[in-house]
Amino acid sequence: MKTDTSYIREILSKSLEMQVLNLTEVSALLDLRDKELWDEILDTARRVKEKVYGRRIVLFAPLYLSNECVNDCGYCGFRTGNRDARRKTLSVNEAVEEASLLAKRGYKRLLLVTSEHAKMAGIDYLEKVIDAIYKNTDIRILHANTAPMSVEDFRRLRGSGIGVYQCFQETYHIPTYRSMHPSGPKSDYASRLEVMDKAIEAGFEDVGMGVLLGLYDWRWEVAALISHCRRLISKYGFGPHTLSVPRLQPAQGANLPDTCRRVSDEDLKKIVAIYRLALPYAGVVVSTREPAELRDELLSIGASQISAGSRTSPRGYIKEGDTEQFEIGDSRSLEEVIGKIADLGLVPSLCTACYREKRSGERFRHLAEKGAIKNFCQENALLSLREYMEDCASDEVKGRLKKLLDGEIAKSANGLAEKIKLIEAGKRDIHI
Ligand code: SAM
Ligand code: SF4
Repeated sequence: MKTDTSYIREILSKSLEMQVLNLTEVSALLDLRDKELWDEILDTARRVKEKVYGRRIVLFAPLYLSNECVNDCGYCGFRTGNRDARRKTLSVNEAVEEASLLAKRGYKRLLLVTSEHAKMAGIDYLEKVIDAIYKNTDIRILHANTAPMSVEDFRRLRGSGIGVYQCFQETYHIPTYRSMHPSGPKSDYASRLEVMDKAIEAGFEDVGMGVLLGLYDWRWEVAALISHCRRLISKYGFGPHTLSVPRLQPAQGANLPDTCRRVSDEDLKKIVAIYRLALPYAGVVVSTREPAELRDELLSIGASQISAGSRTSPRGYIKEGDTEQFEIGDSRSLEEVIGKIADLGLVPSLCTACYREKRSGERFRHLAEKGAIKNFCQENALLSLREYMEDCASDEVKGRLKKLLDGEIAKSANGLAEKIKLIEAGKRDIHI
């Protein structure tokens, strides 16, 4: 394999031109050990991210609906073999209560997360929860990370107003997959592999993918995931809307073999950069599994979305006590994370405009590849931030955000100041 400097730079230029990398190019990045060249790669990942999305970082929170599960995934606190787990499925009212509380804190976008249980957390239940959250709270977009379902049920999930359907393959390595998923519907590797096709067939244009980092050799997994994404692109004309980087965390009641391969912080940075470079237009999502300092660093390496202030147990925002899925690495509140992002010279965003303006799937990809998405993102992020300042921020954070906003208004030629005045006068959900 060619891994000389000039070849690596050719690959970086290709990413900067918003082209999807092929597997030979991805393998060259995965194989590279040269520290100095890696610094150049990480910096290029940042530049690619800014070319697509500008400086905005999207914020959201997960909302766990149920931890009652029929599967026995060795890494997860919700697994059926965890006899000590305190099980809970939120009632529709409890889900609305949790969502309202998050909306009051300033979130506009939530990711609904469920274990796998056709009766407790199947499509009939999900439809009711989604409808009630949209009708009774200020949450503007819901995404979902649920167990795979039939095309017909995916159609209902899409119809109920879910923006992105997310599901992780966990591992592409078949022997590892088998040992980690000994029983339940999830033990069927081939069926898990088909989930994105089913979701897309049912009308989801935005899907989120990932592998659970730490189960098997990360280089192998990253190559396999990108190969899966390339297959979707050639079949449907678009690939994943987001790629997540969940890294294995301790979980109460987990049952993990010694063969697990912990991914180091340095390697996690490389993974974020490779995802960004391989699929320049995809969002790269970092959860609160990771510690605060590392998350801040990942924002300048290509990550474009982060969760904040998360809890991983059902009812976790209102009351702790039920079993969490895994331990949280970053316990900062939404407000603390917003303040930090602004201090880093980036723009925190609570925007949900693309879903409402139908900038999704292939349309989103074309706009992103032309470098046009960032014009929407930057302005909408600032408008969402102004709303946050009016409705939720403390005086201290308000002051820091005002500085950022004033600087951006001075640079803007787009009538941003006029739109901000509308928000100050009480109008909401102003976006382009
Ligand atoms: N139950 C569904 C499933 O398994 O696809 C969807 C939601 S599951 C609660 C969300 C994801 O959490 C899983 O796909 C897995 O990658 C991740 N996860 C589970 N246990 C974890 C752990 N101990 N550390 C980090 N991530 C974990
Ligand atoms: Fe259930 Fe998902 Fe946890 Fe597996 S990862 S035990 S399917 S909740």
